[in-house]
Amino acid sequence: MKPNIDQCIKCSICNAYCPVLKATGLFPGPKLAGPDAERFRRQRKAIPSEWLEYCDYCKICERVCPQNVPIPDLHIRSRLAWKETRKPSYRDWLLGHAYLLQKLGSWTAPVSTWAAGWGFARWLLDRGLGIDRRTPMPSYRRRTFAHWFKSRPRVKGEPVAYFHGCYTNYIQPELGRAIVEVLEKNDFAVQVPPQECCGLPLISNGFLALASGLGKRNIQSLQQTIEKGTDVVFSSPSCGMTLREEYETILDLPGASRLKDHLLDICQFLLQLYEEGRLNPRFNEVRETY
Ligand code: SF4
Ligand code: SF4
Repeated sequence: MKPNIDQCIKCSICNAYCPVLKATGLFPGPKLAGPDAERFRRQRKAIPSEWLEYCDYCKICERVCPQNVPIPDLHIRSRLAWKETRKPSYRDWLLGHAYLLQKLGSWTAPVSTWAAGWGFARWLLDRGLGIDRRTPMPSYRRRTFAHWFKSRPRVKGEPVAYFHGCYTNYIQPELGRAIVEVLEKNDFAVQVPPQECCGLPLISNGFLALASGLGKRNIQSLQQTIEKGTDVVFSSPSCGMTLREEYETILDLPGASRLKDHLLDICQFLLQLYEEGRLNPRFNEVRETY
């Protein structure tokens, strides 16, 4: 079913909150690129589709819209329809397959981190693919979160599963370690089921078949966990949102609606424990020098 665009009352609240509109005048904003442009798209009238490349799909506009207009959904569907009409660019391929690059970056770290920051490589990416040379580049870790987790002893407790996502695994494993430690301090036995990239970069860049393949493998693996009555927490909001919403609405994957009822953001999970009076908030002071 097509989203209802007639709910839009032109209040422009979405524009006021869009971080991309604040950053660049090249994007006309969620209202114009979303419900306004959709009227023209539905009548097959030409509008500049390049606009849609600027939306980073953060979904803030959807959260603040008083009329519940599904603006990001309009953007992604129009972007996918547009991408179907043309061959993917090298830039789309590179950004869409970020999970492969992160795997490679981790295997070859620290050389990969040095290469990603090398002036000539930055110039090449900037000139050749339009990836701005000022974009902060990731620092890859050779020892992934998954390796660390496998190497440690299992603890007893109430089971909870963790979907860590690629960023935590290859770039910021300390985030995953902290989450495991907080959960264990609260008497949970953390499980890390086999998992793939959530597929969001592939979806955003038009590689839907590949994204569906990864999504099916994730659903199959996580289903075995939830069938045993174990909930799944995630720490990356974009990965969690993909598992919870896009697997059902964009990829239409079997089993997606069942999965979403058992997926919780880690903050939501801890808040729930706190409200039930079950959260142990006594943590040691962390000494950091900034
Ligand atoms: S916030 Fe919602 S109702 Fe207001 S202009 Fe944006 S889409 Fe329309
Ligand atoms: S989803 Fe796109 S249009 Fe909406 S606030 Fe985020 S960047 Fe802006």
